[in-house]
Amino acid sequence: MEINYLQRVFQAYYKERKSEIPSVSTINNREFGFIPWNKAIMIRHMGFKDLQALKDYLIESSPRHVYSSGSLYSMPENTNMDQKGYQGCDLIVDIDVDHFYTSCKDDHDIWICKECDSSGKGMITKCPKCGSLKFSTLNWICEECLETAKNEIIKLLEEFLVPDFDISLEQAKIAFSGHRGYHLKIENDKIRALTTHERREIADYLTGHNISFEILGLQQIGSNIYGLIGNNLDWSQKIINKIKDILRNYSDNQIKDLLFQFGFNKNVVKSFINSKQDFLYTITNNTHNLWNIEGFGINNWKKFLKGIIHQIGVEIDEPVLIDIHRLIRYPGSLHGKTGFKVQELTIKQLYDFNPLNENRDDLNPIIFESKKNMQKIKIVESEVPKTKIKGDTYGPYFKDEIIEVPNHIAIFLLCKEVAVPV
Ligand SMILES: [Zn+2]
Ligand SMILES: [Zn+2]
Repeated sequence: MEINYLQRVFQAYYKERKSEIPSVSTINNREFGFIPWNKAIMIRHMGFKDLQALKDYLIESSPRHVYSSGSLYSMPENTNMDQKGYQGCDLIVDIDVDHFYTSCKDDHDIWICKECDSSGKGMITKCPKCGSLKFSTLNWICEECLETAKNEIIKLLEEFLVPDFDISLEQAKIAFSGHRGYHLKIENDKIRALTTHERREIADYLTGHNISFEILGLQQIGSNIYGLIGNNLDWSQKIINKIKDILRNYSDNQIKDLLFQFGFNKNVVKSFINSKQDFLYTITNNTHNLWNIEGFGINNWKKFLKGIIHQIGVEIDEPVLIDIHRLIRYPGSLHGKTGFKVQELTIKQLYDFNPLNENRDDLNPIIFESKKNMQKIKIVESEVPKTKIKGDTYGPYFKDEIIEVPNHIAIFLLCKEVAVPV
């Protein structure tokens, strides 16, 4: 019943606000995919001759999820991947808080073990009670994790793609995904021609995975450790700058926390703090490049640098960047798990963008917002974390509770499948 209801709500949006649905470049060369309301499978290999044809389809079918390809094909409707007439693929980066830790998840992400029935909050890779890998999760949204994801996109553009790949900000198409993250699409001819292998190298570069410390200059000669040479590669420069920033601007307590996070013990941390002024002098002045700190052998330096690289690298979803057959959410469409709009943004609009409390009407993804229009729904999930949208907090709620909430909150909870209409 709520399925029919939500489909009608989505249909009304596609009908009434069709003028706001943007085109993507060369829309007739893109493959489209849809997930309907009644089945959790994607219908792929669809094509549209123009934006109007797509809009007609959206009004008629109003699917739960709408996607289009980063790739261009001469025959996007051909069901055989090898016969689609592949012409190239935009670079697509997906930054989704599902893939990295934020401390707020300890408040709002719930897991339930399917093996032993225990449950808890936070991000887990296995059940902490019984070790089982089979658990279900209820992942929630909050301003804090969305802000983290946004900052990763800004970092990706300003610290990597623009300076290191010669990409202009105009070629970057940014979108709020409608749920827990952001997408970035880079459209230029050079990028479109990249092979899968080259895309993997870009992914490694952005995350900092598989960096060779030896190539960056780290080496041991006798009992001396020689450190990174700040100017020989983009990454060594990024690392040196980050270390300088930490040594100059972090308090001793902040440095301690960071080093504990990297996995160092008390004695090593104390020794590092005692030597921090000397170390800063060494990496700032080019008189010598000896990184000799008591307790730091070559392995501890590698551990330290790994930690620093993790601070600098971007938390991207690697398979999305590498796989040329991926589909990503279509801008202007609705996300079926929230009822929020996939909102396109320029980099300038992104800086102040706050999807859960956006005050610029044309950028507001919460399109069903209504303070007057209330709806009664019943909670069907054992526990629903609290939700803060438009400055108001709703919940937490528990199973069988009947609540009366504004339209956009009701649609959000129905889309999340934690409530049903009454
Ligand atoms: Zn368990
Ligand atoms: Zn959060």
